[in-house]
Amino acid sequence: MILILGGTAEGRELASALDGRGVVHSLAGRTARPRAEGTVRSGGFGGAAGLAEYLRDNAVRVVVDATHPFAGRMTQNAAVACAEVGVRLVRLSRPGWASHPDAHRWHWVDGHDDASATAARLGGPILLTVGRQHTPAYSGELAGHRVVARVAEEPDVPLPDPWTVLRTLGPFTVDGERALFDEHGIRTLVSKDSGGEHTVAKVDVAAERGCSVVMIRRPAPEPGVPEVASVEACLAWLS
Ligand code: NAP
Repeated sequence: MILILGGTAEGRELASALDGRGVVHSLAGRTARPRAEGTVRSGGFGGAAGLAEYLRDNAVRVVVDATHPFAGRMTQNAAVACAEVGVRLVRLSRPGWASHPDAHRWHWVDGHDDASATAARLGGPILLTVGRQHTPAYSGELAGHRVVARVAEEPDVPLPDPWTVLRTLGPFTVDGERALFDEHGIRTLVSKDSGGEHTVAKVDVAAERGCSVVMIRRPAPEPGVPEVASVEACLAWLS
């Protein structure tokens, strides 16, 4: 059996391409109505030890870690569990945006604390696009700023009153992002270096509008784990 650790468009595409060929597509179970393909299981494994047990119990031969580039814990657990059980592991990770023509002008930071301090210094209005889980971490530093927080689902904790919360799921178009930047007069964008095409329009429009960009670097890759950058490359690796 092939286990795909998903939660991304790439995970969905891979599961769809391999459907019917002994593949299980695993999701964290965070979203109420996830978009998923193939045979799906949902919810955490219980750390690296739980994943190792799952791999043994289900005779998993290969794991494809197609989780989001910022899903660092799952990626670490996969490396530990696969090494322990002796299962082959490949990381499917779309390229980041470091080669974007404007990337040299961005404020590259290593985490959310740094990102919120940098955004506070640069000032707003700020478009905050760091995901539901991490948005509340900006509440302290950016409480007094004009912030548009874009999230796929409402965060569990209340956000500062003056903030505008937009509940919306990508992909996003350049025209849509232009309208959003103009409506709110956005001057600073905060983003993770997620990479890919689905959400790149915001960085293109930020460049076009001369906005400041605070870009959060990706977690370091797991040493010794082979990496592929596309679904096609992953299918070639698997074959
Ligand atoms: P994380 O911090 O790396 O994972 C936290 C825990 O969630 C893991 O330890 C694991 O629980 C469980 N988990 C994560 N991915 C799983 C999967 N595919 N199948 C089963 N369990 C999984 O990840 P995260 O940042 O919270 O992201 C959660 C999910 O959302 C991931 O699947 C990721 O691909 C997707 N996602 C994340 C982002 C992002 O920016 N982080 C953006 C879009 C989508 P146990 O330890 O109990 O096994």
